[in-house]
Amino acid sequence: MHSISYERARDVAHAIALASAPGSKFIGGGTNLLDLYKSGIERPSMLVDVSRLALNAVEALPDGGVRIGATASNTFAANHPLVRGRYRLLSEAILNGASAQLRNMATVGGNLLQRTRCYYFTDPAFKQCNKREPGSGCAAIDGFNRIHAILGASPACIATNPSDMAVALVALDATVRLAGPDGERSLPVAEFHRLPGDAPQFDTVIRQGELIVAIDLPPAAFGAHSHYLKVRDRASYAFALVSVAAALDLQDGIVRDLRIVLGGVAHKPWRAAQAEDALRGQSLDEENIARAAALAVAGAQPCAHNAFKVELAQRAVNRALRIAGGLA
Ligand code: SF4
Repeated sequence: MHSISYERARDVAHAIALASAPGSKFIGGGTNLLDLYKSGIERPSMLVDVSRLALNAVEALPDGGVRIGATASNTFAANHPLVRGRYRLLSEAILNGASAQLRNMATVGGNLLQRTRCYYFTDPAFKQCNKREPGSGCAAIDGFNRIHAILGASPACIATNPSDMAVALVALDATVRLAGPDGERSLPVAEFHRLPGDAPQFDTVIRQGELIVAIDLPPAAFGAHSHYLKVRDRASYAFALVSVAAALDLQDGIVRDLRIVLGGVAHKPWRAAQAEDALRGQSLDEENIARAAALAVAGAQPCAHNAFKVELAQRAVNRALRIAGGLA
């Protein structure tokens, strides 16, 4: 039998000190970690409970931005007036994730750290999974890879990141704040998740013992013209086959600036920089939108069972841009 100890952290410093023990893991809502523990994929020797830390506020920042504490529940964050009022895109994305019950439990910090739902990763009966067991191979590459990546994958792993929230955060230029044994640091959410390369066991750049303490949103630039579009196999409680966070800064029909970020297509939220470049400074019309949508999937390399995602992503970008711009 696997034994496990449990400690409730009093404050951030205490949490970080506790997490210095080998094999320790932070637990917030536990909605992903406990599933992985029950199936034997995660085997922590100690759980450091951070759910009661005073990190659950949503507050306005002096620069006009908003800070969301890491232990705020997904429900609380999505429905907070500061988020609903200034960052509708983020609210939409969070509310598109999981189920109401899970959103009530899951924390914002945990959402960023949730792990892929690749079938071969979540079922330990499959022995080949470089993410679970580095060097063992990847069962998905020659297996059933309908839900897998079409962009940024590697010969070691073709998994996708499952978070809806992270896709919107990248579009909103959000920053993640971390505290750890070496002090505090912050980095763009766009740089927090990583592509698999030859080390797919690492989903993010977080260091051992570091704790997510908050997410900072800069002053809203795209509040009026944004849309989160999620395409999935059923209407709720399903991960994205493809999702799109589209955000536009529009003036007199001209796109002054924009963000197009895709979910469900890569190991991290995928910013479609070429598509953005093509539309920036242009009028928001059907022709320019179609050109940008085609560029959003430039370089896609589908697997045997997910070629449909290329066209699906293109169509989703097209539709999300038209809705964001008030054309649909
Ligand atoms: Fe494991 Fe990644 Fe391959 Fe899935 S795609 S089996 S997570 S290595």
